[in-house]
Amino acid sequence: MSLVIVGSMAFDAIETPFGKTDKIIGGAATYIGLCSSYFAKDIKIVSVVGNDFPESAMNMLSAKGIDLEGVDIKKDGKTFFWSGKYHNDLNSRDTLITELNVLADFNPILPESYTHCDFLLLGNLSPQVQKSVIEQLKVRPKLVAMDTMNFWMDIALEPLKETLKLVDILIVNDEEARQLSGEYSLVKASKIIRAMGPKYLIIKKGEHGALLFYGEEVFYAPALPLEEVFDPTGAGDTFAGGFISYLAKTNNISFQNMKRGVIYGSAMASFCVEKFGTERLQHLTINEINERVNKFVQLVRFDLDEVAELA
Ligand code: AMP
Repeated sequence: MSLVIVGSMAFDAIETPFGKTDKIIGGAATYIGLCSSYFAKDIKIVSVVGNDFPESAMNMLSAKGIDLEGVDIKKDGKTFFWSGKYHNDLNSRDTLITELNVLADFNPILPESYTHCDFLLLGNLSPQVQKSVIEQLKVRPKLVAMDTMNFWMDIALEPLKETLKLVDILIVNDEEARQLSGEYSLVKASKIIRAMGPKYLIIKKGEHGALLFYGEEVFYAPALPLEEVFDPTGAGDTFAGGFISYLAKTNNISFQNMKRGVIYGSAMASFCVEKFGTERLQHLTINEINERVNKFVQLVRFDLDEVAELA
């Protein structure tokens, strides 16, 4: 099944309690693409970079089988730059710098081969760009998922609400869900957000896992307790990439399969945080992924009969 990914490709400068990087390769589409390359076969990215974006990074993504025809390379432009600093708990961060550069007036034109995709993941980008991509599709995909962040809620709330009407599933973190809904309770927030358009909602809670809401149902997946967490950057994008590319690989968008997708997304995010930037995601093996997914299964498995005996 084909998967089109829309999102930023970026330079990031990251500071965590464990170290600091100069400008390294990042961006939502980069993380999502890399993660998805372990699942889906036919992956296409829609993004924009400047002439400063390294050819080696483009080659690395192409070597993973990712189609980059939809990546606009602006000869006279500078690549989007983001810099963030994590607090000691690693669950929260401050954005220090956001230089939109070529993203500021990005107006994607989808290549013809992108317009019939089966799955669409609108990674974190301006809601106007996200909407324009949906409108260029010739056939409605089986599933349209969307990520966003507080940055866009602050500066483009109305366009964001317009785009939300067009998507099947929204993936945000708890803070973003609270900001978007104006509700502290995530259960109440989930109802308000789903009334805005998406039938499904995933709320990520960092090291506390993720919740998937649909109708009256809610599914919870933990995050794996890890010995080493170096850099949470991209974990949310990686989660979204693992989730949708698992659905694309299995070609199944039932709620039951979405639960598995949430586990696969969580497993991939647990790799992402183990090294700085995209490094860990570049060199995974299928065996490592399967072992990690099994750890999740073990983490939450318990025998109800033995619990019942105590009563
Ligand atoms: P995450 O940690 O999953 O929220 O994603 C981190 C990535 O998002 C970084 O690689 C950044 O380059 C990218 N990013 C940060 N702010 C924005 C923004 N306003 N628009 C698009 N991408 C962004």
